[in-house]
Amino acid sequence: MSGKRTFTMIKPDAVIAGHTGSIVKMIEEAGFRILAMKKTRLSAELAGKFYEIHKERPFYGELCSYMSSGAIVPMILEKENAVEDFRKLIGATDPKKAAPGTIRALFAKSIDANAIHGSDSDANAEIESNFFFSQFERF
Ligand code: UDP
Ligand code: MG
Repeated sequence: MSGKRTFTMIKPDAVIAGHTGSIVKMIEEAGFRILAMKKTRLSAELAGKFYEIHKERPFYGELCSYMSSGAIVPMILEKENAVEDFRKLIGATDPKKAAPGTIRALFAKSIDANAIHGSDSDANAEIESNFFFSQFERF
């Protein structure tokens, strides 16, 4: 059965560009309920832990410095079929390949500074949610 929750974060490029409000509006209008949300910033070390799964990929170092370069807005979202539906809403990793109208097509600058993260599985949604939020921050 598909899960009801996913994890997302608005990345530094989109926060700096002032797109937080527009992106949150799109998320809510697509039927996701925001269970938890905050504005915070990762150290390079914490970014490295979050993206540990990509440790062997050539862009890992740059990804960690980029993800710790400014504020981010992590959220836990609730909806039927949350992980899959949210990946559709954000579009492909490379904004040039993202479907028109998706968050990355509208707001991402490049394949690395691509505006937003979305969990790729129910298991990772759970791990990533726990990385940022305690039980007392979920409403
Ligand atoms: N990324 C990058 N270069 C690449 C592929 C990915 O800088 O060639 C970055 C990008 O920020 C991406 C993140 O690494 O969102 C994680 O990559 P993944 O393949 O998991 O893409 P996503 O699940 O975010 O679409
Ligand atoms: Mg991914």
